Amino acid sequence: MIWYPYTQMKTMEDPIEVTGAHGVILETSEGPLIDSISSWWSNDFGYAHPEITAAITEQAGRFSHVMLGGLTHAPVQRLAAKLEEWLPGDLNHSFFSDSGSVAVEVALKMALQYYMNRGIPGRTAVLSLEHSYHGDTFQAMKAGDDEDYHFVLEAYGPDPDFLHIPAQTEALEDAFARWHDRLNCFIVEPLIQGAGGMRMYDISFLQRARQLCDKYDVLLIFDEVAVGFGRTGHRFVSDLVLPDILVLGKALTGGYIGHAVTVSRDHVFDAFYDDDPDKALMHGPTFMGNPLAASAALKVIEIFDREDYMGKVRRIEEITRREMAGFRDPRIREIRIMGACVCIEVYDEKDLQDFPAFARERGVFNRPFLQYLYAMVPYVITEEQLVTVLNTMKEWFRR
Ligand SMILES: *Cc1c(COP(=O)(O)O)cnc(C)c1O
Repeated sequence: MIWYPYTQMKTMEDPIEVTGAHGVILETSEGPLIDSISSWWSNDFGYAHPEITAAITEQAGRFSHVMLGGLTHAPVQRLAAKLEEWLPGDLNHSFFSDSGSVAVEVALKMALQYYMNRGIPGRTAVLSLEHSYHGDTFQAMKAGDDEDYHFVLEAYGPDPDFLHIPAQTEALEDAFARWHDRLNCFIVEPLIQGAGGMRMYDISFLQRARQLCDKYDVLLIFDEVAVGFGRTGHRFVSDLVLPDILVLGKALTGGYIGHAVTVSRDHVFDAFYDDDPDKALMHGPTFMGNPLAASAALKVIEIFDREDYMGKVRRIEEITRREMAGFRDPRIREIRIMGACVCIEVYDEKDLQDFPAFARERGVFNRPFLQYLYAMVPYVITEEQLVTVLNTMKEWFRR
């Protein structure tokens, strides 16, 4: 039997079976549903996109996978070259992985070894944000601060090598003043903390982080696995503040096939580039650089630029602000909107129970977690479909 994610199998409701999907529509056993979650924030381009499907199919006709150890191939070479040209600054060196969590692990490993390779001792600590989420592998979980996972930290005892601070400039300055000579990196979900509750904060926090990282020689890592490709209203937050290492996943392959990448700037790469084999990065996921995933990613980037996807994000934000204007309810703590992300935070998570069934009756697939009711719609959604999603969220409080 299938063991489903993040769920108590004993009390789980039956999942909805998907029999087909196209555009923003999931065809299900309960009829067509508008997907307002984009398959965990990965499908910005719509389902069964003929061009992305064709890119994968064509590559599958040639070959589906070969290892990247001692071998290489055109799709992964072209993708690395495209990312080098497309990403800001000297984010030039792409290390591919099969998932976002692994790509975060690679970034954390890189940051630790960056100082070891340069002969700088004691830089073993990682700074990250309260309520952050960086994936489900253990180091990624430690960098994160999601309450669901604290049992792991409890089991292993407090680990002083992972330090969490709130997303506030004062706390940041304080952390650097106290711990700068222990830190190898500050890892952060820029502008929107996703799984921690769609918490949004100002770019000035990241600008200050960049200054402090420069001042104290600490690597700045942006985990844009959730927010890259326009979600915040910026193509990448890295376009505004340049990190030393950037992690991308989820939308990288349009939500078609799992893949992720850890992209580093020249100075990070250079610390590993040496005659000494011990200075090499010792990592290599089996499916890294998978040709099907690389072909999907190349097509996704082409469509993103050609069809002005940033324009689509701006339109989604405008419509969302218009529809949510003036909407209030005493049960609601805060409504947050940034780019193509909207979150209604309630005081009591019980007030969101049964929302999924309510939404399905109105033709919408949604899945709140804890006290967060949110939508991260595919960018190809029509105005009418988006209004349906937002109205469904509002109507829930007007019942
Ligand atoms: C989803 C997510 C990850 C983990 O990606 P997976 O592909 O699920 O392993 C890491 N960081 C952030 C910010 C995410 O949202």
